[in-house]
Amino acid sequence: MAQHTGRHFLQIPGPTNVPDQVLRAMAAPTIDHRGPEFAALTREILEAVRPVFGTTGPVVIYPSSGTGAWEAALVNTLSPGDRVLAFETGHFATLWREMATRLGLEVDFVPGDWRHGVDPAVVGQRLAADPAIKAVCVVHNETSTGVASRIGEVRHAMDEAGHSALLLVDTISSLGSIDYRHDEWRVDVTISCSQKGLMLPPGLGFNAVSEKALRAAETARLPRSYWDWKPILTANQNGAFPYTPSTNLLYGLREALRMLYEEGLDAVYARHARHAEATRAAVRGWGLEVLCLDEREHSGSLTAVLVPEGHDADKIRELILDRFDMSLGSGLGKLQGRVFRIGHLGHFNDLSLAGTLSGVQMGLELAGVPIDPNGVTAALRVLGAA
Ligand code: PLP
Repeated sequence: MAQHTGRHFLQIPGPTNVPDQVLRAMAAPTIDHRGPEFAALTREILEAVRPVFGTTGPVVIYPSSGTGAWEAALVNTLSPGDRVLAFETGHFATLWREMATRLGLEVDFVPGDWRHGVDPAVVGQRLAADPAIKAVCVVHNETSTGVASRIGEVRHAMDEAGHSALLLVDTISSLGSIDYRHDEWRVDVTISCSQKGLMLPPGLGFNAVSEKALRAAETARLPRSYWDWKPILTANQNGAFPYTPSTNLLYGLREALRMLYEEGLDAVYARHARHAEATRAAVRGWGLEVLCLDEREHSGSLTAVLVPEGHDADKIRELILDRFDMSLGSGLGKLQGRVFRIGHLGHFNDLSLAGTLSGVQMGLELAGVPIDPNGVTAALRVLGAA
């Protein structure tokens, strides 16, 4: 392993780089989670977290990873044997489907090629054909592929079909990076977690919950205890949780939200879209292929890059880590060895992207991948023009 100096480049699509302000905010004494200081913090955070989801309704916060927040969304709203519509957009959609099946749900899993998002027309067709479907599960941003589904259009298709299914959306790698509107799109449960666009370490899971989802929870019969919204929402009214919350991560969340709102959410989304565009310019400039095939579906938070036949993406990543001290995302599931993923989300700026892309370009050249060395220049042109 080469000797490294300076900062590591953490360019996986989450966990992301944690800003110094957030690290400092968390480096505080742990306080009594049943005392008045913590109650005030909880109340402040439960309000402050809503705008990033685009909601004025309740957001449940768990001391969990995103997988826990997935489970919470299912067990609070559904009953054994309920039919659920889901889409094979990639590795994470596949894992969520497996969880739903293990929990006793009947999943209608629409096959996909891992290069496209959810087709709203197919949502409409499937719902029209099956009035018994209780929920539509969509991963907004497939972190394994860099493809973002169009949730507003999915909502529209559900409305056109006149179907009453719940809409459950995973925003784990889009929240705070890609435009998202829980209330406007009438999403019933928005699932997220802390370690991506929110720029925090792993350890917080979220469910933003609609009125309709709260009503569904009254009759849902999947077993639930730890994930049950009701005791949490009840305790939250007094600024408390029914169990020990992640106290110091909540300090960090308060600071991270401050940073996002200070920049302005629209500016945050535009910054991510611009960095994604510059990244695609680099990839195409190298003569390589972006995995996402639909121009309307490019992710703002990461780009998955296909490596040419005869090259192993994992070997290229290993070389880049060893030589340049940069971590890139691996190919997941059936994409293992075929793609690497560049994370460009969270605490990130033009020069972080320039450094990231330079490391990728040098790594590709060292690995003997035949590329055009003008990729980085193409990206810099996009950054410079803005
Ligand atoms: N869903 C998506 C889209 C993800 O990217 C991830 C993790 O990267 C998960 C779910 C699972 O979240 P966690 O690993 O925090 O449990």
